[in-house]
Amino acid sequence: MKREGIILIISAPSGAGKTTLCRSLMERFPSMKESVSYTTRPPRNGELHGIDYFFVSREEFQRMVDCDAFAEWAEVHGNLYGTALATIDEARKNGVDLVLDIDCQGARRLKEQIERCVYIFVLPPSMAELRRRLETRSSDDQAVIDLRIERAAGEIREARWYDYIIINDNFDTAFEELSSIVVAQSRRTFRMLGQVAKLFDI
Ligand code: 5GP
Repeated sequence: MKREGIILIISAPSGAGKTTLCRSLMERFPSMKESVSYTTRPPRNGELHGIDYFFVSREEFQRMVDCDAFAEWAEVHGNLYGTALATIDEARKNGVDLVLDIDCQGARRLKEQIERCVYIFVLPPSMAELRRRLETRSSDDQAVIDLRIERAAGEIREARWYDYIIINDNFDTAFEELSSIVVAQSRRTFRMLGQVAKLFDI
């Protein structure tokens, strides 16, 4: 029997560095896959259907909600986003380790629905640094940045119920911390017993 896949949930306010951390995680652990969510948001330049998201209409999304196809879903910035139950079930069954980059509302819903997921919250080192990162990285105007900062304050309050908190001050340190969580999860006894049985014929 394949060992059960790790389901890693990563949330963070915009500007905390979550996207780069997730991308680096896939490079270090090639067996790890990023979950592809459904969204009603239109594709951005270069985004591909089935790779970045499954881009669907509101009607189609609602139809999936009605037939309980989502493990979680939420409205973020006026668009709907959701993770299909099938994505999680298949990964678990096939021993695939999955990373879900989802917002706090979705993560909380998932926690109520699905067992044995691992919840990680990535924080910036300070609000001042978060603002600095948002100002330097984007072409967004001040009003949009102010809105992101305001939203971040609310999201950070949610960090308390996550399993792990990583403060992304220095990227390398944050990445090592994230990687060590993945390694620790892969050594959980219930994931190791199959291998132990093979090695020791028990
Ligand atoms: P973006 O539109 O920039 O790709 O994503 C916007 C936000 O939606 C991000 O905070 C991301 O974490 C969140 N998000 C992406 N996919 C999902 C999902 O399947 N469920 C939930 N709840 N949030 C998601």
